[in-house]
This record gives sequence, C-alpha cells and structure tokens, in this order.
Amino acid sequence: MGCVSITRTKGNIKRALSDALSLIGGLETYVRKGDKVMLKPNLNGTEGVTNIELVEGLIQMLLDLNVRDIMIAESAFGPAQFTDMFFKKNGYTDLADKYHIPLINLNHSEIVEAAVPEPLIIDKIKIAREAFDADRIINLPVMKVHYATAVTLALKNLKGLLVGDEKRRFHETGLDRAIVDLNSVIRPALHIVDGITCMEGMGPRGGDLFNLNLIIAGADPAEVDYTGIGIMDFTLDEVKHLKYYVESNKINLNGVEMLGEKISGVKRPFKKAALSTIVPEDCRIHDRDACSSCMNALLLSLQVMEKDVPKNLDIYLGTKVPFEEDVKGLKIGFGNCCPADPTFDKYIKGCPPYPFALGKALKPS
Ligand code: SF4
Repeated sequence: MGCVSITRTKGNIKRALSDALSLIGGLETYVRKGDKVMLKPNLNGTEGVTNIELVEGLIQMLLDLNVRDIMIAESAFGPAQFTDMFFKKNGYTDLADKYHIPLINLNHSEIVEAAVPEPLIIDKIKIAREAFDADRIINLPVMKVHYATAVTLALKNLKGLLVGDEKRRFHETGLDRAIVDLNSVIRPALHIVDGITCMEGMGPRGGDLFNLNLIIAGADPAEVDYTGIGIMDFTLDEVKHLKYYVESNKINLNGVEMLGEKISGVKRPFKKAALSTIVPEDCRIHDRDACSSCMNALLLSLQVMEKDVPKNLDIYLGTKVPFEEDVKGLKIGFGNCCPADPTFDKYIKGCPPYPFALGKALKPS
C-alpha cells in the first residue's frame, strides 16, 4: 500500500513541492541520475493549466539530481497549432528556453500503437513515441472539475499523450474505460497534482478559477486521485474512470497512508458542472457521449450568442444520435462526430466547431 502527501504552498511553491516529495521518500526515490524524464503538464488552454512555478521548481530539483534529459510534452485539444499557442501563452516556451529543455508538441510525434494488457474497451492505443523513449514520466495534472468525467486529475491527464485522431476515438468508444486502458499502458513514476489554482463549475475549460494552494503527490494514480476527489468532495461512484481503474487493478483504497495535511483539514467542495446555468430552458441538448471539447464549444457558442439564441432548439452532439426521437424544435447537429442526418435543419461541422459557427448558422437571413 502506498502513500500520498498533501502540502500547503504558503506562498512558496518550490518549498511546498520539496516538502510534498520529501514526505513520500524524496524525488530520488522516483527518478535516478542519468534518467531521461518527461514532464507531462496540463496545458489544455490558457487558464487552469499547470502552474509554471511548480514545473520550474521540479526542473531545478531534477537538475540537482543530475538526470540525463528533461523534456516537457503535451498535446492539447484541437488542431496542432493550439498546443504551440498554449505553450507560448502559458510561458512554457520561455521556460523551456531558459533551461534548454525540449518542449514537445506531441501532435507531431511518431505514433506507437501499443497493445493494452487486459483491455476494458480498447485493444491498441496510439501514443506518442516520446512517452516510450522516456525512462520516467512525471505527471503534473491540475485539479479541475470536468463536465464529462466529473474531475480531471492524474488518470485523466495522460490523455494528452495521445496522437492523431485517438482522442476522438476515446470519446467514440467510451471515455472512462478508455482512460483506464491508457493508464494500463503508460505508468508514470510519479504524480504531482497542482491544486494551487483550481477550476470548478464548467471545467475543464471556462469554469471558475480559485486558489486552493495545495500540492498532492504520490506514485499511484488511483491513490492520488482518490485523495483529490476527497478534497473536491466527489464520490468514487461519481468518478467512473477512477472507479473502473480501482476495480480492474484490485486496489484497496482504505489503507492509503496520508502524509502532511489531512483531507478533512483541506477539504473544499467543488461546484460541479451545471449546464442549466448557461443553456436556456427551451434549448434541449442531446449529448451522446460527446467530448469536453464539443460540449465546451457548444456552451461557448451559446454564451457568445447571449440573447440571440433562438427559442426551441434541439441540439445533438456526440456519436450516437437516436433519430427516432420526436423533437419539436429546430434540429441541429453539432460537431463532426454527430452523423449527418437529412432531418437536421442545421449541421455545424468542426471538431470541435468554431465558437461563432452556431451563431452564424442561426442568424436570420
Ligand atoms: S466532433 Fe466534437 S465530440 Fe467529436 S471528437 Fe470532435 S470535439 Fe469531440
């Protein structure tokens, strides 16, 4: 049985990181001199991303350990150039330059098709070559609510190692089980959750940010995530990918040793994603396992339209659209995953659709 540490940053992130790692045996327990180390932050946007001071502190600690190579790698949602933009806007381009570290946009990576041992839903997964080149991966997720997977913490953050259309396939096949399969293939040496600036409400993009000023560290992603959801006040039943992972790996979470702060002392219930706060009452969303990008794009589209949202809409997104439904409103297909149907009044293409596309399509001619 493993251990998980929780520390408060108290205005000094590097010190809190060092304390969090010391409590679980020190960074040298997880990384050795001469290792090639991949840092996998969450850079999926321009807010709610992994704290750069935390990553810089970790780089300095790794350099003190004389690791051979350090790289920072990520593939964010959307087209490949989004990832480059997020690198730059979040300060990671400058950080990588400062320490002469490769900053890798995994959208351009060579694909390795890895077999999943005892898969739940996917036999083979297309993963970026760099994930296999690294001796150790250090996973650096941000503590956020996620409208599709309840939360995004350590297990979910590995999705940024997927290449090509694999993210979309994950959504098509069933995201929660696919996340478990990915974590059966890629097993980072260490997980450090950035609970410094967190996101609640309509995460993982566009939700409400607030400071919790915590760092959570551990070697087992289930133990780390279980600690995270305890702080966020989610149950295991609400976080399906964690539940499936715990069940399939036969993990006993009762004996996890908690070090540093106690969950009860730092618990702060997170507001859950609530579509009702954005979607007008007479706009019905038929979500058939669409990914967060599509749902967020739709919510963003509705937000930018404000009072111009027409009355009585039926919007379909995701793959499985039951065309037999007797709908009364204007019928709209949203996103490339939504199979084109002749009964749609409008079909908004895109993966995800551009935030202004819905408003444009519904503008009275
Ligand atoms: S079309 Fe939408 S649901 Fe499908 S992969 Fe793209 S963003 Fe996700």
